[in-house]
Amino acid sequence: MIIYIDMDNTLLATYKGAVLYAEKITGKKLHMLKPEELETDSTIQWLRSAGLEEDEAIDTRIKLFNSVEYWENIPFEKDALSVFKYLYDNHEVYISTSAFLSDSEACYVGKVRWVKKNLPFFNLRRLIYTHAKYNLVGDYIIEDIPSQTVMFKGTPIIFDRPYNRSFPSRLNYRVNSWKEIFTLFTEELKERSIDFYVLKRDKEGKIVYSWTREKNVEEYLLLEDEVIEAYMRTWAYECPDYNPSEGFSYGWR
Ligand SMILES: [Mg+2]
Repeated sequence: MIIYIDMDNTLLATYKGAVLYAEKITGKKLHMLKPEELETDSTIQWLRSAGLEEDEAIDTRIKLFNSVEYWENIPFEKDALSVFKYLYDNHEVYISTSAFLSDSEACYVGKVRWVKKNLPFFNLRRLIYTHAKYNLVGDYIIEDIPSQTVMFKGTPIIFDRPYNRSFPSRLNYRVNSWKEIFTLFTEELKERSIDFYVLKRDKEGKIVYSWTREKNVEEYLLLEDEVIEAYMRTWAYECPDYNPSEGFSYGWR
């Protein structure tokens, strides 16, 4: 199976890295955020919650984003390395990260250094810098930003964070830990090589997007890829983050 894995706040505990590096450059002892305290994906807000005043948080965020050392030293999310290695050894695994959205060359360099240092077995030809993750083709994408996965034709696996719980749900799994990802791939998905994307009509004749794990889907109206894609694009246009000329507007904050 082809699996895409996001870096920040999925493979990496980026919020922890931000607080640790902020402690280093400010010399202050800060509050280490817990996963359940992540009400937002904004680095500035993490630094505010960790104890910095707004001006200092804004200033520190600029310093972080422009430091190769920050990007290359972000810690793994708990249990991520061993499960990542398992997936890498058993599937076709790519890392997909929207590094260019950081608008920082330090980020581009720091991320590749992070991969070289922390995943020495990883083939760098599978490191993808892209914002357009939703245009990737594959079976699964593991990601904490649901809008990145809206038009992905495989199955999104959303890494649960408080800030992504209000996103409208569609076909996806939600996991709370890398251990759950391991269980998902070793037990629940073991028998499957592909998910079925199905559209059926409701009582009023409206097309409803659905999915099934069953291979026998006679009750569903199976449509061609083009129809499904058109449906997903319509869905995406209704998504508040979507702009037809620019794609999804989600950016690093
Ligand atoms: Mg992320």
